[in-house]
Amino acid sequence: MDCIFCKIIEGAIPSNKAYEDEYMLAFHDINPQAPVHILVIPKEHIPSADGVNAENSAVIAKIFEAIPKIAAAAGLKNGYRVITNCGDDACQTVKHLHFHIMGGKKLPENMG
Ligand code: AMP
Ligand code: ZN
Repeated sequence: MDCIFCKIIEGAIPSNKAYEDEYMLAFHDINPQAPVHILVIPKEHIPSADGVNAENSAVIAKIFEAIPKIAAAAGLKNGYRVITNCGDDACQTVKHLHFHIMGGKKLPENMG
């Protein structure tokens, strides 16, 4: 499968890793939109939030259990935003589910 994030998980494409366990990988976004911009992805290929179902949703709980630890380790003491873009209207560019953790400054109120 031609998926850039699966290749990052395999190590075929390098990443600046922030956290890893058996379920997920977190790495710094190559084009950061905030002082801290980390992506958290399941190791299982799920195309988007629209592909979450009863069979694969346990990893989503694991990711949300890890997010506070990842944010704290990145120094996000004053809050942060967690975003997932799903589909064309949300401008999802990589079709492997990922959660953006963004912070390190006061983020714009307008989400579009
Ligand atoms: P989205 O628009 O929600 O699909 O977000 C995809 C994100 O992946 C963007 O913020 C990109 O900057 C980021 N990205 C794409 N390729 C890489 C890569 N090789 N390493 C790190 N981040 C990447
Ligand atoms: Zn993938």
